[in-house]
Amino acid sequence: MIFENTLEFAKHLDLQDPLHKYQDEFIFPKVQGKKVIYFTGNSLGLQPKRTKAYVDEVMNDWANLAVEGHFYSEKPWWDYHERFADALSKIVGALPSEVTVMNTLTVNLHLLMVSFYQPTQTRYKIICEEKAFPSDQYMFQSQVDFHSQNLGIQLEDAIVEIKRRDGEHNIRLEDVLAKIEEVGDELALVLIGGVNYYTGQVFDMKTITAAGHKVGAYVGWDLAHAAGNIKLELHDWNADFAAWCSYKYMNSGPGNASGCFIHKKHHNNAALPRFAGWWGHNKERRFKMEQTFDPIQGADGWQISNLSILSLAPYLASVDMFDEIGMDALIQKRDAITSYLEFILHEIDKEVDSSFEIITPSNPTERASQLSVLLHGEGRSLFDYLMQNGVITDWREPNVIRLAPVPLYTSFEDIYQFGQILKAGIQS
Ligand SMILES: *Cc1c(COP(=O)(O)O)cnc(C)c1O
Repeated sequence: MIFENTLEFAKHLDLQDPLHKYQDEFIFPKVQGKKVIYFTGNSLGLQPKRTKAYVDEVMNDWANLAVEGHFYSEKPWWDYHERFADALSKIVGALPSEVTVMNTLTVNLHLLMVSFYQPTQTRYKIICEEKAFPSDQYMFQSQVDFHSQNLGIQLEDAIVEIKRRDGEHNIRLEDVLAKIEEVGDELALVLIGGVNYYTGQVFDMKTITAAGHKVGAYVGWDLAHAAGNIKLELHDWNADFAAWCSYKYMNSGPGNASGCFIHKKHHNNAALPRFAGWWGHNKERRFKMEQTFDPIQGADGWQISNLSILSLAPYLASVDMFDEIGMDALIQKRDAITSYLEFILHEIDKEVDSSFEIITPSNPTERASQLSVLLHGEGRSLFDYLMQNGVITDWREPNVIRLAPVPLYTSFEDIYQFGQILKAGIQS
């Protein structure tokens, strides 16, 4: 499509956009009395208006039914999480039995590493991406530490980072594949962020998963920036496991519950270690208080505690909204709006002195809802200017802003207006 940097053109795109009406379904903070242009849905998604009703329902059931709410609420709490299976499995490309919701993201990745990182003296290495999200780095280090005493393995040796080439911002697929091949028999686990949080790069999960399996490793994915953002086919890609948080693109509220995927091929494998609790026990027999753990055959079998229903309620509101829209429609809009933002950035760049460098891949198959922009010659004052003028972005030292035009609630007009504010900010 040929884009234009005019208000009229942006409004025309909004008119043609079948998802435009969803902007009204969200609550926007205001700056100077005007609703903000919100580009940080990759960090914390906005609150959908419908969420409150889901939370109120649980509050009311608790008030009116107390303990009886476990069984007699409109949505009984004892199997509340099962309402996620169908919709969530469509979002991540899984069978309903392969997904579950519980805990929070890093906790779940640790629990999944209990099952899928079982190092031996000869096969103990983990491949991850260079500059992974800090929580993931701490997790890898502490997991290796946990096993190191028994095995005599060294941290520096066990964690293998895939590096960017000098002068490049993104990791090349060929370098990932070469590293997997090189580590070979020593490789226990590949665990990478499906979408890199800093650059927005989308990895070829299908190819990387196959390569990891070829050398006998497990392959898992941290989908914090991928769930609700990109098309996932976890079952068909044959990923062993994955986990994601729900408060970024899935708008479920701060620090909220995580989703997990565990491939069906592992559901009946009694040899796979796991940490157990009563919520993962055979659900027909859960309340018989038996002594021996008999796991549910499915991802639910990895649950430990009874679930925080008050935190699942907003997540369910979100999952219902995604189910209504479908990932295909969402992705169509995402690509259009991300391309429009890219176009506007290039247009503004031509009109001002500074120069922007978009470090996110320009290839549409390697990016999603985020453009990370290196601002040569500009500093934090530009970020502050944007914030003061109602554009909420994310600043990373030394001079990168991350912009996530979320297709559910960003309009093309927002993108046009952002360009105008950005230009004024640079010229001020
Ligand atoms: C946001 C994010 C997390 C956050 O983890 P929590 O356990 O939810 O605090 C972890 N990993 C990645 C890659 C993230 O982007």
